[in-house]
Amino acid sequence: SVSQLLAHAGDNWPDDVALIETGTGGTLTWAQFDAAANGLAARLIAAGVEPGDRVALRLPTSPDFAVSFFAALRAGAIVVPISPQAPGPELLQLLAHSGAKLVVEREPFDGLPDEVSSVAPGVEPGEPVDLGRTGEDIAVISYTSGTTGPPRGVMLSHRALRANVDQVLQAGPGTLEWADRILITIPLFHVYGLGPGLLTAVAVGATVVFAERFEAQRTLADCATHRVTAIAGVPTMYGEFAALPAEDLATGLATVRRLTSGAAPLHPKVLAAIRQATGLGVFEGYGLTECAPVVTSTLVTGYPKPGSVGRPLPGIELRLVDSDGKPELPEDEDDPFEDGSGTGLVAVRGANLFSGYWPDGDHGPDEEGWFRTGDVGYLDTDGDLHLVDRANDLIIVNGFNVYPTEVENIINELPEVTEAAVVGVVDERTGEAVKAVVVPAPGAALSEQQVIEHCAAKVAGYKVPRIVEFVDELPHSSTGKLRRVKLR
Ligand code: ATP
Repeated sequence: SVSQLLAHAGDNWPDDVALIETGTGGTLTWAQFDAAANGLAARLIAAGVEPGDRVALRLPTSPDFAVSFFAALRAGAIVVPISPQAPGPELLQLLAHSGAKLVVEREPFDGLPDEVSSVAPGVEPGEPVDLGRTGEDIAVISYTSGTTGPPRGVMLSHRALRANVDQVLQAGPGTLEWADRILITIPLFHVYGLGPGLLTAVAVGATVVFAERFEAQRTLADCATHRVTAIAGVPTMYGEFAALPAEDLATGLATVRRLTSGAAPLHPKVLAAIRQATGLGVFEGYGLTECAPVVTSTLVTGYPKPGSVGRPLPGIELRLVDSDGKPELPEDEDDPFEDGSGTGLVAVRGANLFSGYWPDGDHGPDEEGWFRTGDVGYLDTDGDLHLVDRANDLIIVNGFNVYPTEVENIINELPEVTEAAVVGVVDERTGEAVKAVVVPAPGAALSEQQVIEHCAAKVAGYKVPRIVEFVDELPHSSTGKLRRVKLR
């Protein structure tokens, strides 16, 4: 089970520093972490938690989360991580949907239903306890960020999470190892922070440095203070790093040897700026909650490749399929959509796959073990994956396909633009039309016409935005994903 990872670390490196909290400077050794998980597990059991019960964690990125996560698993529970920033109604919806019996939280939420109790996290030691679960038992129900629709509870078994930890650790020579000190500022309630962040570190005994939030200059100072060697990050973080003076970045990241990015596309300009300032590559990965989560990474080849998310991790199979959802390979393997583009839907198979959606296990991998992701991509001649867009975000103008990311990238080339988003709007004549929503750079003067003319010079007419709207800000998820559904 996943909780055995912690027992292993506790046995092997009892007195090494396991967890550091940058805010308070507090630390726990592996033995203390292990004992604290036992202590809280005993309190959860005393509070009535039984194997298979759902225990929600409403905690920031902190040692409290790490201890509570292993405590809940040792009590035999299924962990339901929830954002501590989730507004009341969303929290109540997730508690009801998952049927959580108890919430581990720092401050009791005012308005918890009577049947749900609240327990504070803690680090008091306890006697060893582990209400052992089998690999196929569910360890976590992870609610996806809802980028494309209402949140869905992805059921991740102990087997799936352990498999992805092993796959990530075998990715290539740059992967995490015992001597590392990994900085995690990304949410642990999302499986990116949890799996390739926390769990892989526990598996190899690397020290985890937690910061509750990212603030470029402050995070750099934390990296220097704690001699951080690895960062699990998202593109928005690296974008903010890249905007800092190069000397600050070089000094702050002097001890770092490995940067990774995932969850959303990393801009090649950001990759180049960080390389120039520090000599470091940012290794991009692609994953999704249903895959627990990592599928591909540029760590597999050992070099970042601008615009690519790399190759499947060892033990993961990937293929491109057509839009019918047929598990069979299409006739022409090189062009699944048969539209001359070579793109197809990314399908994945491996021991890391989820067990369907909570509660009934619906829509899991098919009989042959394949899961279709909903992402459209193509493989280049080296065999590296490039993501084009999500199938759901496709805009169809007069029967022609428009991938919003292509148009967004073109608008983003304008120096007067901070960020652009492209969505489809209903159009009587063409079915759908392209609409651009643009955040202008501070102080920049930019007209609708300028955006349209810039696009018209670069892409076919049907891809050119018909409407351009200027806004102060675009909606993003907690991991920095553009939320096009919200825009629509
Ligand atoms: P929902 O499923 O409710 O819409 P979500 O898709 O945001 O929520 P996640 O599992 O958090 O759920 O996100 C996975 C998606 O993130 C992938 O399917 C892919 O579209 C996108 N993604 C992940 N990594 C990358 C990357 N490196 N580049 C581009 N997109 C990425």
